[in-house]
Amino acid sequence: MKIVMLGAPGAGKGTQAKKIASNFGIPHISTGDLFRVNIKNETALGKKAKVYIDQGFLVPDDLVLELIEERLGMADCKEGYVLDGFPRTIPQAKALDHTLNNKNDKLEYTIEVDVPDEVIIDRMAGRRACLSCGRTYHLETLRPKAEGICDFCGSFLILRDDDKPETVMKRLEVYHKQTQPLIDYYRERGILHTVDGTGEIEMIYQEIINILV
Ligand code: AMP
Repeated sequence: MKIVMLGAPGAGKGTQAKKIASNFGIPHISTGDLFRVNIKNETALGKKAKVYIDQGFLVPDDLVLELIEERLGMADCKEGYVLDGFPRTIPQAKALDHTLNNKNDKLEYTIEVDVPDEVIIDRMAGRRACLSCGRTYHLETLRPKAEGICDFCGSFLILRDDDKPETVMKRLEVYHKQTQPLIDYYRERGILHTVDGTGEIEMIYQEIINILV
């Protein structure tokens, strides 16, 4: 099962992607997480990507494709995956189609998690992330058991630079300009499904499961 999650930054697509991945036993692949690991490890790719990420811009397509193609070539991707944060531009979507076509394969579902910008700005200001394992929490809606500490790995939680309000506004602008055209791209291919992302996490998840089974 090959699934792409679409939605603005902060729409909750990562949370849903992790639940889907664990339910179907397929990997959750977040390009944002892959970049953050590279930044943390100070790789050449991480150093180049950080400049864009910290300002709320998209990382150039060639760097993203280098990263994702390597990941999709790994053994655990054979039975499928949930892509979260990729593709984010039409050239990325076309590159993914091309890679899949070459293997006589195709995407089966794209799930758009739809949330208005005002709700997103509120949500992101309260989001806290674990820099070690990438899990995210929220000061009001998804609190860790111990304040400021990741439930899973015990590391400190932080407000990511790219979740700061000024960066969020920039990221939303970038989303509407560069990523939203993908909605039409996948709608035309008949694989787009849209869910309302403003409700409870579990309700949204149920709606997605109804689409996938
Ligand atoms: P995310 O955690 O998915 O919101 O990603 C964090 C940041 O990483 C984004 O704001 C972009 O700067 C960068 N990024 C992640 N995925 C992509 C992608 N597919 N294309 C370009 N930039 C990306």
